[in-house]
Amino acid sequence: MADIIIIGGGAAGMMAAVAAAGTGQNVVLIEKNEKLGKKLFITGKGRCNVTNACEVTDFFQNVMDHAKFLYSAVYGFDNHAVMAFFEQAGCPLKIERGQRVFPKSDHSSDIIRALEQTIRKSGVTVLLNTEVKKIKSLPIEENIEGGKEKKQIGKKKQRYCAKVSQLELYDRTTGRQSVMRADKLILATGGCSYVLTGSTGDGYRFAEECGHQIVPTMPALVPFAVKEEWCHQLQGLSLKNVQVSVVVDGKQIYSDFGELLFTHYGVSGPLILSASSHYVHKACGNGNCSGEAKLLIDLKPALTKEQLDKRVLREFDENKNKQFKNVINSLFPAKLIPLMPVLSNIDPDKRVNEITKEERERFVQTIKQIELTITGLRDYNEAVITKGGVATNEVSPSTMESKLVKGLYFAGEVLDLDALTGGFNLQIAWSTGYLAGTSAAAACE
Ligand SMILES: Cc1cc2nc3c(=O)[nH]c(=O)nc-3n(C[C@H](O)[C@H](O)[C@H](O)COP(=O)(O)OP(=O)(O)OC[C@H]3O[C@@H](n4cnc5c(N)ncnc54)[C@H](O)[C@@H]3O)c2cc1C
Repeated sequence: MADIIIIGGGAAGMMAAVAAAGTGQNVVLIEKNEKLGKKLFITGKGRCNVTNACEVTDFFQNVMDHAKFLYSAVYGFDNHAVMAFFEQAGCPLKIERGQRVFPKSDHSSDIIRALEQTIRKSGVTVLLNTEVKKIKSLPIEENIEGGKEKKQIGKKKQRYCAKVSQLELYDRTTGRQSVMRADKLILATGGCSYVLTGSTGDGYRFAEECGHQIVPTMPALVPFAVKEEWCHQLQGLSLKNVQVSVVVDGKQIYSDFGELLFTHYGVSGPLILSASSHYVHKACGNGNCSGEAKLLIDLKPALTKEQLDKRVLREFDENKNKQFKNVINSLFPAKLIPLMPVLSNIDPDKRVNEITKEERERFVQTIKQIELTITGLRDYNEAVITKGGVATNEVSPSTMESKLVKGLYFAGEVLDLDALTGGFNLQIAWSTGYLAGTSAAAACE
C-alpha cells in the first residue's frame, strides 16, 4: 500500500512527489494524461518562466489574494530554493528582464525532464493514463454530533470531521476501474484553464464532496472582449509603451504601462492580462462581473497633453498644405492612421491649416484617451490561470492539510490562489507542492 498518493502530475504534484519521496515514503503519483507536465510544457510560450528571482518579500506583492496564507510555504521553499533544485537536477537556469527565470536552453521540456528524473530516482510510482473518478472519506464519529462537526476547542487543537479512505480509479488505456486505499492524499489537480492540458476542475468537485467550500472560479490573466467593432481592423497590431487604465463605474481600479495587442475580439498582451486579474479580483465577486467597465488607452503616456499639443502643432506647421491623414503618419503605426481621424471626428482629407483649434484639441484628447467598453473576459481556454478554488481558510497554511478531512492535502492551482505573470504562479505550485509533500510524509512517521 502507498503511504502517500498524489493526484495530478503537474508542477505542484510533481514537486510534492519529489518532497515526499525524499523522506523515504512509498509515494504514488497519479496522472490522467499520457505524460507528466502537459501544462508545464506550454508555459512561458514553451520556455517555462519557472519562477522569479525577486526578493522573497516582493513575491507576495504579486499574489492577488491570500498572500499571508503562503508565508510558510514560500519561506519553506522559496524562489532561490526552486532555482537551486533545478540547477542540481541538471537544468541550468538564466534570469531575464523583470527577474523572470527560464531554463538556459529555453525549453520547458528540460524543466519537466529534471522533475521526472528526480521523481523516478526517488522511487516514486507513476501511474499515467489513470484518472481519479472519486475520493472517499469516512466520518470520524467522535468529532461529529447530530450530523454536524463539533466546535473546535481552542485554536491549536485540530478536530477533523472525516479522514480520507480510498480512491476510485479509471484506467484510460484498458477501461478498467479499480479502487486504491489512501491515508494521505495530496490533491494537485490544477484549475480549469487550458482544459486540453488536463485541467478540468476535477479537484474542485473532489474537495466539495469532502465538505470543502469552493470559492467561485473565474478565468484570470485572460484577454478582454470589447464592444467597439473597429478593434477588429487593428487585429495583430501590438503597441509597446502605452498606458492602460481600467475604470469600473467611474472608479479607476488599475493603471500601468506596457504592451497591448489588438485581436479579432478585443485586446490581449501582457499589460491586458495583468489588467484582467485586477479587474476579476476587484469587480467580479462570486463569479460575476458587475458595473460598466471601460479600458482607457493613452498612446503617448510620456507626454502631457500640453507637450503633445505642441508636438502636433509642430507637425501641422511643418506640413501646412498637406492632408490630415498624411501628416499624422509620423505619430502612429500604419494600422492606426485610418482610425485616428475617425475616433477624433476629423475629416482625414482636410488640409491641416484648415483644422480648427477645437478639432486639434479633440485629436490630442483622443491620443491621450482611447476608450474601449469591456464586455467580458475571454474563456478558460485563453486564461493563464483560474481565480477561485478551494477556500484557503479551510486549509492549514503551515502544512497544506485540510482542516476538515484528516490526511487530505492541497497543492497548486486547485487552491484559491493566483498571482500576476512573471513566474509567480509556478512558484505558488512549487512552494505549496513542496510543503504538502513534506507535511504528508512527516504525518506518516
Ligand atoms: C498558456 C499558459 C502559460 C503559462 N505560463 C506560465 C509561466 O511561464 N510561469 C508561471 O509561473 N505560470 C505559468 N502558467 C500558470 C501555470 O502553468 C500554473 O500555475 C501551474 O501549471 C499550476 O500547477 P498545478 O500543478 O497546480 O496544475 P496543473 O499544471 O494544471 O496540473 C494538474 C494536473 O492534474 C491532472 N489531473 C487533473 N484531474 C485529474 C484526475 N481526476 N485524475 C488524475 N489526474 C488529474 C491534470 O491532467 C494535470 O496534469 C501558465 C499557464 C498557461 C495556461
